[in-house]
Amino acid sequence: STSGIAGGRDRGKTQGDAAQVRMMNDYIQAIQNYLKDHGFEQLAPEAVLFDMDGVLFDSMRLHNESWQATAAAYNLEMLPDEPYTLEGCTSTLMINTLMKRTHQRQATPEELETIYTEKRRRFNVLPRPKRMPGAAEMLEKVGRDGLQRVVVTGSGQRSLLDRLQTAFPNVFRADLIVSSKDYTQGKPAPDPYLCGLKRTSLQPNQALVVENAPLGVEAAVKAGIFTIAVNTGPLPDEALRERGADLLFPSMQALATHWEEIRAAIATCAPTK
Ligand code: MG
Repeated sequence: STSGIAGGRDRGKTQGDAAQVRMMNDYIQAIQNYLKDHGFEQLAPEAVLFDMDGVLFDSMRLHNESWQATAAAYNLEMLPDEPYTLEGCTSTLMINTLMKRTHQRQATPEELETIYTEKRRRFNVLPRPKRMPGAAEMLEKVGRDGLQRVVVTGSGQRSLLDRLQTAFPNVFRADLIVSSKDYTQGKPAPDPYLCGLKRTSLQPNQALVVENAPLGVEAAVKAGIFTIAVNTGPLPDEALRERGADLLFPSMQALATHWEEIRAAIATCAPTK
């Protein structure tokens, strides 16, 4: 069976208990694999690093729509799922990908500016993205456990970054929001997540990452952090698993529901003194 996949619910009690045990074993196995792969003695999280789009905000359909419309307006060839498959990368990388495909060259600085401005404009006239179901509950549980809550996003969209504070009041310290202006190399490079660790003065085994995008999972895994994927979009689970996700849930709600068991599994894996 695949490790770390959240199982079904609402079975008979005995069956439910068996599923519960299996799930705990999957979590423990995933943690042990992580420790072995990265050469750490223990996983001792003091912070959770959250990606923003597709994790905290249900915004990816809106990003997809505004990217597709922008590409069409500039006669740039964009693949149907490209905003999802390249999610998390900087706008520069996204635009250059389209330029290379369409015109076999990089975008000029002026084109980068014009095209991204147009994408932002189209995004900002769409309905405001809602909070991802389960995100507030997850943030609350993490805060209650005394862990720091950090945002690490590839986005530079001021409109959404500002909304973090209104959508999730009193959750994020301003200096614990890492966005595209804080690093040069975007996801899938580890830099954004390393920046998040630096802000909290933590080592990779002292944090967890929650990500929904293949490039984001790759970035977090490269940074050496235990990575929980939530598949909130249209891509197959395999797209996240093949980048090295340690655990995989179908939604933020499912992750929030199983948070206590994940914490218990982490405690089980702690070395005995
Ligand atoms: Mg995302």
